[in-house]
Amino acid sequence: MMILIKEDETEIRKELRKLEIEISFHRDPDFLFSSAISYLDLAELYLLTNPMDSNMKLYHSLFLQDSREKSEELEQQYIQNYIDNKKIHGQMISAFYQEINEQLINFYKSVEYNKAVLSQKETNLKQQEDFKLLISFFQEEDPSLKEQFLDMIKQNRFYVIKEETCLGATTYNSIENTCNIFLQKESPTIDSLATIVHEMGHVIDFLDIGKHFEILDRSLYSRKSIYCEVLSILYEQKFLNFLIQNNIRKEQASLCLICSYIDNFIHFPNLIAASKLSSLEIKSLCKGLMSNQELQKIFGSAIFYNPYLFDLRDSLAYSYGLLLANHLMEDKKKEKIFMELRNDFFDPNQLEKLDITVENSGLKLIKRLERTMNNMINK
Ligand SMILES: [Zn+2]
Repeated sequence: MMILIKEDETEIRKELRKLEIEISFHRDPDFLFSSAISYLDLAELYLLTNPMDSNMKLYHSLFLQDSREKSEELEQQYIQNYIDNKKIHGQMISAFYQEINEQLINFYKSVEYNKAVLSQKETNLKQQEDFKLLISFFQEEDPSLKEQFLDMIKQNRFYVIKEETCLGATTYNSIENTCNIFLQKESPTIDSLATIVHEMGHVIDFLDIGKHFEILDRSLYSRKSIYCEVLSILYEQKFLNFLIQNNIRKEQASLCLICSYIDNFIHFPNLIAASKLSSLEIKSLCKGLMSNQELQKIFGSAIFYNPYLFDLRDSLAYSYGLLLANHLMEDKKKEKIFMELRNDFFDPNQLEKLDITVENSGLKLIKRLERTMNNMINK
């Protein structure tokens, strides 16, 4: 692999120290909040590999409490924005839920799926093949993306992640407008390349936000705006489609694509269930004040539901990520409109500008999913 995944985290420590200084000396609340968010984001990943680092006292210290008031105020705005729009979220997500769910369940049980899983496990990519595939995808998609990717490599911004359940993560420093990508250290597969492209989607998204947004809005956006998984899922799925269309590792790419649909789709039933709650119930759900029994009553029927995993931000970001990515795919004009209207908070007019309605929100998603499944069956 020509991407050097670094195990030496000296640069990360330097970045953390710099942010600590910002947090200690700045008194502007927006700046303080943004430094704290950037710091926590990076510290969380750093501590996975270095849990005993005694310099990380700040992570648990009182310093960060200065930004707590701001954080709570913004959290309330976020929840209020959800409450104001929960009806439209519920409709958008539930319109195509049954149909997609049936498709996926049938496929999940199929022989093709099980055969493909087995073959996927055995196949690693050849040396250099991984790098070539990434470069040719970025080049075809947009030469400026290739430059951005090469820039991340040149700046050595790839690190090892020591969290088994997470394949990749991107941290964003809104003060300096820079990103780091954390990845599992493993021999390259189509799956791990798709993760790199997904994370590069975040990098492209955040760095562009950094150019156009004020500091507070950068942090709010990166801290899970409803739109912050759109570009990452869009590029990940575009990459897999690129492989399928060019007949490169077609079987594995198709399987990865279906898994990408499933991974994001599992958030749909949570949102549908949440959209039926009262404002008061939503507030207590978001504060973690609901008992297991209450949670069971609300989410019990959601097939993939795990009460410990419910997170309103995640559910919104991944559900809309999947919906919008499939709406924008193969439509560069709409992608441009999306780039201009993405924002910290949701407003139904934004969807109107993208011609997304309750009636058509999932149409393209269903068609593509069907096509991918057929691709695997008639390979
Ligand atoms: Zn992501």
